[in-house]
Amino acid sequence: MLKLVVVVGIPGVGKSTVLSIARNKLVEKGYNVKLVNFGDYMFNYLKEVGTVRTRDEIRRLPLTIQLKTQGMVARKIREELESERGEQVIGIVDTHAVIKTPTGFWTGLPMNVLQELRPNLIAVIEAKPEEIVARQQRDASRYRADLSSIEFVKELLQLNRYFSIASSVISGAAVTFISNPEGLFEKAAEELVAAIEAI
Ligand code: AMP
Ligand code: MG
Repeated sequence: MLKLVVVVGIPGVGKSTVLSIARNKLVEKGYNVKLVNFGDYMFNYLKEVGTVRTRDEIRRLPLTIQLKTQGMVARKIREELESERGEQVIGIVDTHAVIKTPTGFWTGLPMNVLQELRPNLIAVIEAKPEEIVARQQRDASRYRADLSSIEFVKELLQLNRYFSIASSVISGAAVTFISNPEGLFEKAAEELVAAIEAI
């Protein structure tokens, strides 16, 4: 049986760190855990067909291209996770509930993506706006022009909740909010593991 968990959070929230700790904890408990990054799949496909050269170009593409790629990637991820062996397979999809594009905010989890992925749980990783901005500044090579103000991060955190709830309504997946305060990655990962085991 496959349990599919979608994990979202705005850039700088510490999602990747929490996810790798949570994955290790679940593996220790005997689950077959597959951690996949939606952006990697988008990037690998778009790079292969020659549409982009860097990851940051993805969200500047025309929405029609992104939409088509997004749906295709969702199907591929579900198929790969379905083919995993074992009684207790946990698929964790690292992605975004909301993406800022030049044409406005865009859902990372529209109906077609949710229909392909069929998530059981949507976990929203959150942190204090001040901590998110500090993390982005520390990792400036990655965020470059995207460094945000505290005000903007506050707005994005709010939007992230709204979009996640909308995706929960469409898919019927449970939604949970996990706070990831500075220095408490372990605790956040433990909370996520508990939520995954409970579904
Ligand atoms: P990340 O490295 O996780 O921040 O993701 C990199 C990029 O992948 C994002 O900025 C988006 O352009 C794209 N991406 C990730 N998840 C999705 C999704 N669910 N739908 C569309 N694009 C996505
Ligand atoms: Mg990440």
